Amino acid sequence: MTRMSLHTMGQQRGRRSWAEPWKIKMVEPLKVTTREERETALTEAGYNTFLLRSDDVYIDLLTDSGTSAMSDRQWAGMMLGDEAYAGSRNYYHLEDAVRRHYGYRFLVPTHQGRGAEHLISQTLIKPGDHVPGNMYFTTTRLHQELAGATFHDVIIDAAHDPQDPNPFKGNVDLGKLAALIADAGADRIPYVSLAGTVNMAGGQPVSMANVRDLRALCDRHGIRVLLDATRMVENALFIQEREPGYADRSIAEILHEFCSYTDGAWMSAKKDNLVNIGGWLAVNDESVFEELRNLVVVYEGLHTYGGMAGRDMEALAIGIEESVQDEHVRSRVGQVRYLGELLTEWDIPIVQPIGGHAIFLDARRFYPHLAQDLFPAQTLAAELYLDSGIRSMERGIASAGRNPETGENYHPKLELTRLTIPRRVYTQAHMDVVAESVKACYDARDTARGLRMVYEPRYLRFFQARFEPL
Ligand SMILES: *Cc1c(COP(=O)(O)O)cnc(C)c1O
Repeated sequence: MTRMSLHTMGQQRGRRSWAEPWKIKMVEPLKVTTREERETALTEAGYNTFLLRSDDVYIDLLTDSGTSAMSDRQWAGMMLGDEAYAGSRNYYHLEDAVRRHYGYRFLVPTHQGRGAEHLISQTLIKPGDHVPGNMYFTTTRLHQELAGATFHDVIIDAAHDPQDPNPFKGNVDLGKLAALIADAGADRIPYVSLAGTVNMAGGQPVSMANVRDLRALCDRHGIRVLLDATRMVENALFIQEREPGYADRSIAEILHEFCSYTDGAWMSAKKDNLVNIGGWLAVNDESVFEELRNLVVVYEGLHTYGGMAGRDMEALAIGIEESVQDEHVRSRVGQVRYLGELLTEWDIPIVQPIGGHAIFLDARRFYPHLAQDLFPAQTLAAELYLDSGIRSMERGIASAGRNPETGENYHPKLELTRLTIPRRVYTQAHMDVVAESVKACYDARDTARGLRMVYEPRYLRFFQARFEPL
């Protein structure tokens, strides 16, 4: 089915079109390459889209991390940077914004999300501890493991099934968590690592009912709940749309309530918070804050800048404010959904329901003839780049890495290629181009032969691994 007929169908149903709630004040030209140029670039990059030069990319859907377009207000805020070493006014502005919208008492700025993950892991985890979470995230789990913990996935089973239509596939399975508590002992579980939304499951949300029940269970055992708030604003939209009782609540209200069931959060501000670099950690417990404030000076910078310039903290404070506006979140997730619905119309296998920040192509069903050890998701990312210069990312066996104890490859159930939509950067017309390129790869799927890994780094291998076509 073509895009025109889809539009016509929409009109027949009486649907009204929507558009991005911003207009463009400054443009950045895109480079269009030939297939020959892309073949050369991909070979030089070892068939890993992380190793491409961005100049050789047409539409860049590698990640939504640090790729947002800042608003005119944020750019104006950059001029108000107070570049004092200590006590910058921008820090206090940031502290206000985090307190108002996330509700935590104490703030520690960090250079980005993993800086915050490092500090919280080193502060709360003792060697031999166990950290349960609603599916792993690459940097999060690594910092927990480096601090001596074993990570346990306690997400509901539906999250591992790309076709299960559960509206809250990010939920914690409280039965799995209770079993772990019984097994490991509550005193060996420093905290539950809760993410909203769950990136590796396809940007799937956690319900308010689930976090409330989780809080109650953890209270009975004296276990903390810490939130990876990186995409919690997007999670709030799903609660507003899908959970009874929240349709008339604003995104800001839902965000605030959700956070109130947790003891603290770490944040990659490069995602929801609409800045190109930055992060933060916030907690309610003063003694934990004391320790974090000791450590931040060692690894990030003084506790009133944590690796960020004053101007960056100002843009971040304004970004937080903009990120919780209902119109913004609706169009952000709406753009992802628009792309996902086009692909669904064409019967292209993607993770359902459509998540908040990205479309995840289901590489297992896309290339049923490729075994997981032939890197089907990495192959699909390569094919997409060759077809049109669109850059995507592997989220499958290469990202999952190896078990640190046994050295064996993890074999995740999900073998996905992620088309991640930056915030406020591309238009629906770009989404049409992307959908058509995915379709072209799908039509040629029988010709894909897979890849072999020829260089494997020790940590987070997906970033720098190199491959060769078979
Ligand atoms: C990006 C990300 C992080 C890590 O943050 P960085 O800013 O990239 O260091 C942590 N958790 C989730 C869910 C993320 O998406």
